[in-house]
Amino acid sequence: TKAHIDAIEKARALNAYVLETPEKALAMAKASDERIAKGQAGSLEGIPLGIKDLFCTKDVVSTAGSKILGNFNPAYESTVTQNLWNDGAVMLGKLNMDEFAMGSSNETSAFGPVVSPWRREGSNVSTGPSGAIEGTHLVPGGSSGGSAAAVAAHLCLGATATDTGGSIRQPAAFTGTVGIKPTYGRCSRWGTVAFASSLDQAGPITRTVRDSAIMLRSMSGPDPKDTTCVDLPVPDFEAAVSRGVKGLKIGIPKEYRVDGMSSEIEALWHQGAEWLREAGAEIVEVSLPHTKYALPAYYIVAPAEASSNLARYDGVRYGLRENGRDIVDLYEKSRAAGFGREVKRRIMIGTYVLSAGYYDAYYVRAQKIRTLIKQDFEKVYAEGVHAILTPATPSAAFGIGEKGSGDPVEMYLNDIFTVTVNMAGLPGIAVPAGLDAQGLPLGLQLIGRAFDEETLFATGQVIE
Ligand code: GLN
Repeated sequence: TKAHIDAIEKARALNAYVLETPEKALAMAKASDERIAKGQAGSLEGIPLGIKDLFCTKDVVSTAGSKILGNFNPAYESTVTQNLWNDGAVMLGKLNMDEFAMGSSNETSAFGPVVSPWRREGSNVSTGPSGAIEGTHLVPGGSSGGSAAAVAAHLCLGATATDTGGSIRQPAAFTGTVGIKPTYGRCSRWGTVAFASSLDQAGPITRTVRDSAIMLRSMSGPDPKDTTCVDLPVPDFEAAVSRGVKGLKIGIPKEYRVDGMSSEIEALWHQGAEWLREAGAEIVEVSLPHTKYALPAYYIVAPAEASSNLARYDGVRYGLRENGRDIVDLYEKSRAAGFGREVKRRIMIGTYVLSAGYYDAYYVRAQKIRTLIKQDFEKVYAEGVHAILTPATPSAAFGIGEKGSGDPVEMYLNDIFTVTVNMAGLPGIAVPAGLDAQGLPLGLQLIGRAFDEETLFATGQVIE
């Protein structure tokens, strides 16, 4: 814990942590030592972790990356973080993220962008006299950019993250780390700030597949406080890691060969399939015909749910309050001052697609597409396929300020391989699989059957 506290201090230029909690960390570590001395060690005893700032932590400010929650001090602990503390883990601090988890680059945070610890080969980057990093800054991906950067830069042993359309898997792929979004319902959403409730899931970002399995087991499990959290026992994920892939049928979906895919990504995907074949899996081509509708449908469903979830930030109940002439003026001023551009854009899109006259044309239509996407996967799995292999992202990490400034859709295209998994409620893991020509990490994604994260850990371990 002490070594990590020192490392975090030296790496402040990355902006990975929005809040460091060293006193709390040392107190938790001390309590851990005492439990170890008494022979009462839990499965994560003494392991220092970073917590995405979307998780409410009792008496520790929890901002969701937004000014509107800048002074929000929760009176309760999220179930996922409580599960980690119950197993002995130590909290180092709260991690930066895109505002309300909306973004793919960690550039929408009210607390400034996170800088990836990775550099393009040959780019002349150094730490300047002020401690600031000079040279091209790359994004760590988003929305769990602080989590991914902190794990990659050794500023924690693992981090919590959340994934609504790719926010665990995309930043993991950009930083050479492992990120799993479990099946919808595996982790409780209680005490996690809501973005799009039917898509949001928590999961870990770690440096290895084995760490991912250990940490997910601790985070998961039934919770009477969240009725969408399933009442299923949590398997021993760690035992599944070394299971191997002999006899497994792995599908390669032809619709993921999108126009303009770089030859590097295509080659890596091929290589991944080859590794699995050599390890004893059977590789088959499969079809998920509704894939091309997933991204537009996601960008209707997610903003619709967000516009409803974010209605609670009115300046009255909690968070930022701006004074107004009357109550409506107070609402308007508080929301105008508290939300950033991307969040406002999502609220407007969401309100529009849910409004009378447009509801059937957009929202209902998107929900129908969602069902078709789910059925595509069910059909492939019914044919005996155990998991599906795809690229995790259409490219390696890009520079800060390089994408999406003029056209938000350019940023949304990052999520092309990840959103289908959330729309179908399935588990997906991103594992580091290689480097591009500039020396930046590239990831592959494995998509599993519902509640079969074990196969993803076994398959991911072969690729890692
Ligand atoms: N990039 C996607 C979005 O902005 C996904 C975000 C997420 O998974 N939280 O909606």
